[in-house]
Amino acid sequence: MIEESALNNAESLIQSGTKKLSSISNVPRLEAEVLLSYLLDITPIKFHTDNICINQKVMDKFKSMIDSRSEGIPMAYLIGKKEFWSMDFIINESVLVPRPETELLIENAIEIFKNFESPKILELGTGSGIISIVLQKELSNPRITAVDISKEALRIAKMNAQKHKISEIQFISSDWFSEIMHEEFDLIISNPPYVDRSKLSKEELISIVMEPDIALYSENDGTSDLEFIIKKSPQYLKNGGWLILEHGYDQSSYCISEMKKAGYSKINNSKDIQNITRTIFGMFAYE
Ligand code: GLN
Repeated sequence: MIEESALNNAESLIQSGTKKLSSISNVPRLEAEVLLSYLLDITPIKFHTDNICINQKVMDKFKSMIDSRSEGIPMAYLIGKKEFWSMDFIINESVLVPRPETELLIENAIEIFKNFESPKILELGTGSGIISIVLQKELSNPRITAVDISKEALRIAKMNAQKHKISEIQFISSDWFSEIMHEEFDLIISNPPYVDRSKLSKEELISIVMEPDIALYSENDGTSDLEFIIKKSPQYLKNGGWLILEHGYDQSSYCISEMKKAGYSKINNSKDIQNITRTIFGMFAYE
């Protein structure tokens, strides 16, 4: 029996959490509810239907989570998961938090490969594995190789594959193409690091400071990894194979011109919900 004095009302805790998060979040009440429901292992709806009391231990944990969140730690790292393509993925500090715009890459790949049986796919920089895992579910018997330079990221990606009951993806520790030997693919897909750290405002920097630098930043105005992948991919593509990349909000014309120079055709791109061009794709056909 928990003593009355050790109990606290969920609503008052949520309200104090909401107040603290309002300086850093657009949805402070929602975040406070999600954090408390995570600790209690209930759905946030319960706060609106039941009168829930909280014991001291949970209250202390909640307060420390609210502190961490108000210091800028992403929700996904605090609760260890994030939804992407309506699926739950395990996330920690060694991988990027999945962004909704990355769903565009998947949409592009589905559009191009929807009638294709067993495409051979290479994903560069798989991170938590979201792209490869969703493609394994959405395409017809794809043969996917997913690489990352980070061993810890690969560990998370494998856990996610297991969580979604996928055993077909080959996960390899590789610095881009370094461990890919004489193989040719129908599709190379990547959400590489492309952020130019020097261009970030203080607020932008704070919002991503907890995420791994290696997954975010690239030299030469953020373009150096994009350039490397665009130039190197033709060696690893079958005749008529495709390259699909995510890029930064101001890198569309750069990517188009690099892809033209590298000999790709059918170059096209797609925009995110804010109407910003976010992906580029093109086909590589031999002369
Ligand atoms: N879209 C992410 C951001 O702008 C960056 C992802 C990436 O570098 N691949 O914060």
